[in-house]
Amino acid sequence: MFIANLSVAEALESLRTTEEGLSNDEAQRRLKEFGYNKLEEIKRQSILLLFLREFTHFFAIILWVAAGLAFFAEVNAPGEGMLALGIAILGVILINGIFSFWQEYRAERAIAALTKLLPQQALVYRDGKMQTVSAEILVPGDCLVLEEGDNVPADCRVIYASGVRVNTATITGESLPKARIADAVTDNSVLNAKNLLLAGTSIMSGQCRAIIFATGLHTEFGQIAHLTQTEKSSVSHLQQEIARLSKLVAAFAAFLGLVFFVVGTVIGLPFWTSLMFAIGIIVANVPEGLLPTVTLSLAMATQRMAKRNALVRHLPAVETLGSTTVICSDKTGTLTQNKMTAAQIYIHEQLVSVADHAQYENEIRLIQNAQYCHNLKKSFQKKHYVLLGDPMEIALAEFGRKSHDFGDIPVLSEIAFDSERKRMSVVIEHDGVRWLYCKGAPEMVLPLCSHIDSRNVISPADQAVQQQIIAAQNRMAKDGLRVLAFAYCRLEAEQTPQEENLIFSALIGLQDPPRPEVKEAIERCHSAGIKVIMVTGDHPQTAVAIARQIGLIKSDNPLVLQGEALRKMTAAHLHLALESPEIIFARVTAEQKMHVVKALKRKKEIVAVTGDGVNDAPALKIADIGIAMGISGTDVAKEAADIILLDDNFASIVNAIEEGRTVFENIRKFMTYILTSNIPEILPYIAFVIFRIPLPLTIIQILAVDLGTDMLPALALGAEPSDKKLMQQPPRPPKERLLSWGVVIRAYLWLGMLEAAASLFVFFFVLRQSGWEYGSMLGNTDPLYLQATTACLASIVMAQVINLFVCRHPRASAFPMKLSHNPMLWLGIAVEVVLILLVVYTPWGNELFGTHPLELAVWGLMIVLALGLGVLEEGRKLVARRFFSK
Ligand code: ATP
Repeated sequence: MFIANLSVAEALESLRTTEEGLSNDEAQRRLKEFGYNKLEEIKRQSILLLFLREFTHFFAIILWVAAGLAFFAEVNAPGEGMLALGIAILGVILINGIFSFWQEYRAERAIAALTKLLPQQALVYRDGKMQTVSAEILVPGDCLVLEEGDNVPADCRVIYASGVRVNTATITGESLPKARIADAVTDNSVLNAKNLLLAGTSIMSGQCRAIIFATGLHTEFGQIAHLTQTEKSSVSHLQQEIARLSKLVAAFAAFLGLVFFVVGTVIGLPFWTSLMFAIGIIVANVPEGLLPTVTLSLAMATQRMAKRNALVRHLPAVETLGSTTVICSDKTGTLTQNKMTAAQIYIHEQLVSVADHAQYENEIRLIQNAQYCHNLKKSFQKKHYVLLGDPMEIALAEFGRKSHDFGDIPVLSEIAFDSERKRMSVVIEHDGVRWLYCKGAPEMVLPLCSHIDSRNVISPADQAVQQQIIAAQNRMAKDGLRVLAFAYCRLEAEQTPQEENLIFSALIGLQDPPRPEVKEAIERCHSAGIKVIMVTGDHPQTAVAIARQIGLIKSDNPLVLQGEALRKMTAAHLHLALESPEIIFARVTAEQKMHVVKALKRKKEIVAVTGDGVNDAPALKIADIGIAMGISGTDVAKEAADIILLDDNFASIVNAIEEGRTVFENIRKFMTYILTSNIPEILPYIAFVIFRIPLPLTIIQILAVDLGTDMLPALALGAEPSDKKLMQQPPRPPKERLLSWGVVIRAYLWLGMLEAAASLFVFFFVLRQSGWEYGSMLGNTDPLYLQATTACLASIVMAQVINLFVCRHPRASAFPMKLSHNPMLWLGIAVEVVLILLVVYTPWGNELFGTHPLELAVWGLMIVLALGLGVLEEGRKLVARRFFSK
């Protein structure tokens, strides 16, 4: 017995259910029996494997080789300190592996947590009432209500269908939508049967009711789910760049190591000593922790964005957002509140307020039209029926109900709405007569009318009457109202419903106030150099009125392009039109919206586009950033999008852009910080080789900085809050390199040099104080030498403490920046200071790192020099702000 071959009644019988679905109790019972409607948790890689991966990647292998060489050297030339170096490198591999693993793990958890914010919902009959429930608790026998844009949550048999077309690409790979019906079929294949809907597919048009026959792993999708589990997560441009950069720096480090080895050998250093230097240089400069830190920064940004109502579906979207140059936004619901109320009526050649009941209380046709011509669903919530669906339709139905409630009249048939036709119609029967009620955009409804109020006949010659209606529409639109026309006709007994020879009854103007926060958001876009283009299906005058209210247009004559005009434009025309500073697209269809997006992309703009319907999916995919509405958006739109707005609010897009910009800046900040300390680590070696002085900093001490004291502060810089000024600058060019010349020069040639000078100064200060003369060499264990290297190490760390503050911004002074805005900084500094004190003052610290306790006066000098670095950098910033505008 194959369910597709059964009649509707037999299918219901076989699943022990009815057209009204199951009772709540029965559904509970079946849930226990059949389990939750979900696929097994995607098998994530085992934690152990993830952990091991951190020890086997490119950098780890370089380090393993270095450690191997050190041990090999120890065997060949014992007593040269190679054993300690080898052990230190193993320590590096371990610390690094654990740290990277922790970051990757946190990043992965952060992303995983986001998906839980948007659980899939389904509309289902339970106890005879329609309810919205989590898709996870659906059971066989449940009766689903599905419509355009919905994902099908389980395998089901259609029992009622109206114009249903379904996209089965996820299962069959076929992308052309296919029709679905309720009748029994003779087909024997689950995939092809025309009365089945399979989980994982989506409804492209129409509405239907369907009974679930398989859930969770028992669905067709469940069986092939392993295919989707192997889907690779996308790697962002930024991550690619960091990976490339890290390899470049590693290659540079290897080259430098080689040069040191050769130079060391040439100037007569023992072979093993030269080798040790070479290894040290490589280990010190390999940027092991960079990539995981960047990934973690991106992941943290997605969490901050989620808190501000923007859910990021793909990590790369975070950085693309930061360079967005144009936002194409819908009007209704995104810029406006989508809280509609009927405000004005144009009836009997008069424009009246809705409050003036006397003017229309006897207009049965208009009232019934408003009450029944819609696509709403009745749902039972908290002991009341509520209407679910488009707020405009809810407002109209309420308006009708308040005027005169005609009770529960079933809709016999419907000619559905789509954004091309901009109208819809229904057929109902009242007092034995069938009526067709039509509502829609006036320019789409009026041409179908032959009468007005059943009195005047509109003939092509009777332009004046039409002109009056159009004038009334314009008047309402100028006030920002959305205007719909209402018309109807009486159908004869056997007549098939058609939208022709209609009788015009009225225009209704609906108010939809702008969202209060949008005005400021638009201003922020403008000062951030981001162009906002309204792309709406609504009337141009309504669009302009709303655009004015929210400050989107300020001039007297903005460019308003309508769908019709757009159709006739050449690519060059459109290209030029898009240059105009204030531009609005009105009465456009989803397809035309896509043309606009394509044209903007051809202009090399980075385009963010909002959308909610099935038709918007292509535009959302094509855009650099597709943004779907979380509340009003269809599942199909959400799946095509990179970002989902949990509150449908335009202001949330702007907040997300701010976060996107912040991430990029923060990554630059911690790169500057990390790169700075490379210079005082390398210069001592060069000085040692060229000037024949005692080596100011040993390899193990370098490692103490790179993998100890520097780590947490760098992470703290990655968590810096947004800088308000970021949104007063133009968007970052998408090709702009993370490691720009500015960053390299500031880190290596300025801050790094200052730090190197300070640390070498302290080194020689300690030596000279004890009477050291240039040219005399000191033994590796000489207390004076130990003190001097310790001072060099500690002064690098002290300078890094101050550097942390100045790295918080490349131009702005560090003084006004509150530390309380980023508590991680405190932690970073505390750990940094405690670590260096442990290294300097504990016996095992002295043993491990070759250090010696320091006198208080030396600390004083170090602190003064570190503060000097801060003062000089503040001075540089001052000059930069004064004389070099950005
Ligand atoms: P946007 O959300 O982009 O600002 P919109 O919601 O007005 O625009 P569409 O949904 O494409 O865009 O609607 C276009 C026009 O179709 C509307 O201005 C209205 O005149 C008409 N319309 C919209 N919804 C309905 C409906 N449910 N029934 C009849 N007509 C409708």
